[in-house]
Amino acid sequence: MDMTKNQDVIVIGAGIIGISIALKLQSEGRQVLVLDRKGVAAETSSGNAGAFAFADVIPLATPGIMRKAPKWLIDPLGPLSLRPAYALKILPWMLRFWRASWQDKYQAALAAQASLMDFSKAALERQIQAVNGEAMIRREGQLQLYEGEAEFNASLAGWQTRQQHGVIYEFLLSPDAIAKVQPGIHPRFTHAAFTPEWKNVCDPAEWTKHLAEEFEKLGGRIAIASIDSIELNSDRVTLKSDAADYETSQVVLAAGAWSKTLARSIGDSLPLDTERGYNTTLPAGAFNLKTHITFSNHGFVVTKIGEGIRVGGAVELGGLNLEPNYQRANVLLEKAANFLPGLKVNGGKQWMGFRPSMPDSLPVISYSSRSQRVIYAFGHGHLGLTQSAGTAELVAALANTQAPDIDLTPFSATRF
Ligand SMILES: Cc1cc2nc3c(=O)[nH]c(=O)nc-3n(C[C@H](O)[C@H](O)[C@H](O)COP(=O)(O)OP(=O)(O)OC[C@H]3O[C@@H](n4cnc5c(N)ncnc54)[C@H](O)[C@@H]3O)c2cc1C
Repeated sequence: MDMTKNQDVIVIGAGIIGISIALKLQSEGRQVLVLDRKGVAAETSSGNAGAFAFADVIPLATPGIMRKAPKWLIDPLGPLSLRPAYALKILPWMLRFWRASWQDKYQAALAAQASLMDFSKAALERQIQAVNGEAMIRREGQLQLYEGEAEFNASLAGWQTRQQHGVIYEFLLSPDAIAKVQPGIHPRFTHAAFTPEWKNVCDPAEWTKHLAEEFEKLGGRIAIASIDSIELNSDRVTLKSDAADYETSQVVLAAGAWSKTLARSIGDSLPLDTERGYNTTLPAGAFNLKTHITFSNHGFVVTKIGEGIRVGGAVELGGLNLEPNYQRANVLLEKAANFLPGLKVNGGKQWMGFRPSMPDSLPVISYSSRSQRVIYAFGHGHLGLTQSAGTAELVAALANTQAPDIDLTPFSATRF
């Protein structure tokens, strides 16, 4: 069959968002073709921390953050950094981020994020069941650690906010109490919050591949093509690619951090940028990890991936084209070795990924402004894996012109 003609739905992007959407559309009887320029889980969805981070309902643009940000930015290897060569280019995004941190916008984004998280948590359970995936899920919770009472007290308002939005947690108020959940943490960490509903996937690349295999088993098709632009015709959509043009009735744009230029090709100008992140994956035996650990004030996490341990996080504002600075991954590993004195740091593999980020921390889950034949599903920032199953169900509702289960106004392509 000629894949370039008369397609029912084409999904652009075979990351966790695109593949989850493809599976869901297929389960509703749609004929789906996924196009990706590199293949399944070739970018950000391959090397992330593997967390279903349902406790992380608070948007990054919190009130007062712009007063703290310059202090973080001064340290070029701190948890947040700005590559000088990209400073001017990111300015419009930063201005929108600043606006998103005002009380009115922040409260609205928080409510929207919490509703998407709640929906995604339930959708994930449906997805796990549908793909027979329970063996790939770790239900071991998460430990957020604080150095001293002052740091812990400063976090309390955030925990109250999470509680108001349904997040369950328990405080641990001494190194001994922490050691009962996770032995081997330096006693400088005196306080912690444990979130039992947090889950992890054994390996985000393997998880995405598993979903893709299920999709293909049921007749779904995945092909390599690099899409250059989207064109709207009266009753079809044409995707121009490096090799051929594809014709389809509907298209879902799920190309992660690279979605911006494709949306622009049909006239939507969206403030999508990237928050680059770094990590190192250590081999089996590096540490006996019992739960996912978050060093929130240092901007990184330690998590189990397969038999190994992944140490990473951080945010670097540097766009899609600058070379990685792996010194950032080294710094996180050094810190982790101090905080977990038994961590074996040799033999690691470094990685950098491109979080697709909107200034208000909310993804775009929306029809394009020009046509309902083009649906957007990108911009999930730090939470793409977490929100993938929920996004898939919401996009399926849009694709089938059904009412979505949550209000999608805050996720609209025209909100800026
Ligand atoms: C260090 C780090 C840790 C993270 N940890 C977590 C975590 O623990 N939990 C969580 O929920 N999220 C986490 N994230 C975020 C998460 O990884 C992303 O939100 C998610 O992977 C985005 O998925 P995606 O499918 O939108 O994009 P991607 O996985 O980047 O996929 C986009 C796909 O589109 C394809 N593509 C791009 N342009 C074109 C084109 N023109 N034509 C055809 N194909 C194209 C690419 O090849 C790619 O395969 C983390 C991110 C980083 C960097």
